Amino acid sequence: MPSFQDHLAKIKASIREISPDDLRARLDRKEATVLVDIRDRDEIENGFVPSAHLLGRGHLEARIGKVAPAEDAPIVVYCAGGVRSAMAAHTLGEMGYTNVKSMAGGFGKWAQSGFPVETRKSLTQSQLARYSRHLLMPEVGEEGQLKLLAAKVLLIGAGGLGSPTAMYLAAAGIGTLGIVDGDTVDMSNLQRQLLHTEQAVGTPKVESALKTLRGINSDIAIKTYPFRIDSSNVMELFKDYDIIVDGCDNFPTRYLVNDACYFLNKVNVHGSIFRFDGQVTVFKPHVGPCYRCLYPEPPPPGMAPSCAEAGVLGVLPGIVGVAQAIETIKVVLGIGTPLIGRLLTFDALPMKFRELRTRKDPDCPLCGSHPSVTELIDYEQFCSMDRG
Ligand SMILES: [Zn+2]
Repeated sequence: MPSFQDHLAKIKASIREISPDDLRARLDRKEATVLVDIRDRDEIENGFVPSAHLLGRGHLEARIGKVAPAEDAPIVVYCAGGVRSAMAAHTLGEMGYTNVKSMAGGFGKWAQSGFPVETRKSLTQSQLARYSRHLLMPEVGEEGQLKLLAAKVLLIGAGGLGSPTAMYLAAAGIGTLGIVDGDTVDMSNLQRQLLHTEQAVGTPKVESALKTLRGINSDIAIKTYPFRIDSSNVMELFKDYDIIVDGCDNFPTRYLVNDACYFLNKVNVHGSIFRFDGQVTVFKPHVGPCYRCLYPEPPPPGMAPSCAEAGVLGVLPGIVGVAQAIETIKVVLGIGTPLIGRLLTFDALPMKFRELRTRKDPDCPLCGSHPSVTELIDYEQFCSMDRG
């Protein structure tokens, strides 16, 4: 039986090697090099050579074409010690690559030489399992999941809209989820606010939300704010978040969220519901319209039907809140076409979605050319047309 040593000697004789010193010089000269790390994912936790493609060994043959489309591409492969990369270089030669080298001594020698090492955050084993369905999609992948885990999203309201949004965003692995709500759970909330249970009636909504969300995903940070936002606390609260998801149920809060997001340049993922109707849009300051471009001022208190008069189909916030969660994830990942400048409306009775173009109003009192709203306003609290 041929020994491994004999086999390795044969392989090494058939390939070319490059020393870490020569590779370093080559990279410093910015010479075109397709550098490929073929180690396993747990091996790269302590670092890799900067600019290396972390392809791993298992799918090397299938993936190499992506980073080295030309057969004469100058490829350098490395592993931990130079043995696996010698085999890999041999294989790439058999595939038709004509300019492949294996780094002698591997990453170990490179690191011992004191050469630059880059590290990246990677998913833990349990995160790999939890988010595996995301990882399978190239639009998300490990890189996208790491973005989700690094994202900070603040939810306004733990009610009808906030419930599905919070549950899906927690499940999706939004790394920091803030929830602000000053209410306590009422029996009448349970018809639609899935974050809360019968046992939670009478307790603060944020506490009940925290309990439910912890059960869904204990891997993320959940921050709770048991108060109603107003002009005195909103700026301080928003500043630490990337995206604000507005699922509030009243006009004063809605205008406050809109204005604060504009002043702080934060994306505002907006949703609202009324009986059988829902709407969703994304307000991105300086890119698309804001809420005041659509509705410059809140309606006078007497004009809005009272909470008790309006009512809402319990299932409706499920559709709208989930749409908000999807938009949030798209904005974090930078994929797809967010609802900026588009208002998606949903009517449950005919089961119809419609889309309305919305435009930035040059005369908008907030984001127009001659703004009259230059500071936060606390509008008088009154019952809203919709019930979050
Ligand atoms: Zn505006």
